[in-house]
Amino acid sequence: MQDPRPLSDEPLPIDLVNTELWAEGERVDLIADTRGLQTWLAAIGRPECPVTPAALARLHDARSAIRAVLEDDGDAAARRRLNAVLDRGRRREALGEDGPTSVVEVRLEEDRLPWEAAGALLRLLRTDRDRLRPCGGHGCVLWFHDASRSGRRQWCSMATCGNRAKARRHHARGRDRTETEDLAAGPEDPPTGSGRAGSG
Ligand SMILES: [Zn+2]
Repeated sequence: MQDPRPLSDEPLPIDLVNTELWAEGERVDLIADTRGLQTWLAAIGRPECPVTPAALARLHDARSAIRAVLEDDGDAAARRRLNAVLDRGRRREALGEDGPTSVVEVRLEEDRLPWEAAGALLRLLRTDRDRLRPCGGHGCVLWFHDASRSGRRQWCSMATCGNRAKARRHHARGRDRTETEDLAAGPEDPPTGSGRAGSG
């Protein structure tokens, strides 16, 4: 089965947000229906998750909460929505026969993946808040977690948005040799260390 995701190397909450994308001028939702959900679950390596209308609804709910928090984590309404997702599950620690155990308990099996995505977002917010960024590409709605060493990743992918921006800068440079291009586009990426999407 072909991987429908625009980016294949992102953490779960970003993967979930990136199920909404723009392609050829149209909004595409990779998990608009249960068929899309099944394909996406296989792509993220979670084929065991339920494929039901309830699962879709909960993932859509978590997705918009995560997007709202990414866009503005100071927004109280966004935080409430994310916390509502987190309230649907908990991690229970216990000492079992074979030693310490940890079990995720959810109200409905459909809550498990959304809960995991929301929890993973919290961990990223703790450690890497400024590395969760939207792609700088014009009209691109994708987010990424910048895991590059330099921390200067700007694009979802160098092959698409990065190259388009480069072409625009090149065009602007030819037209007008001023600093405005740099102000508009930010610093040029170095040839190395710009992350896994940096080649292309
Ligand atoms: Zn992009």
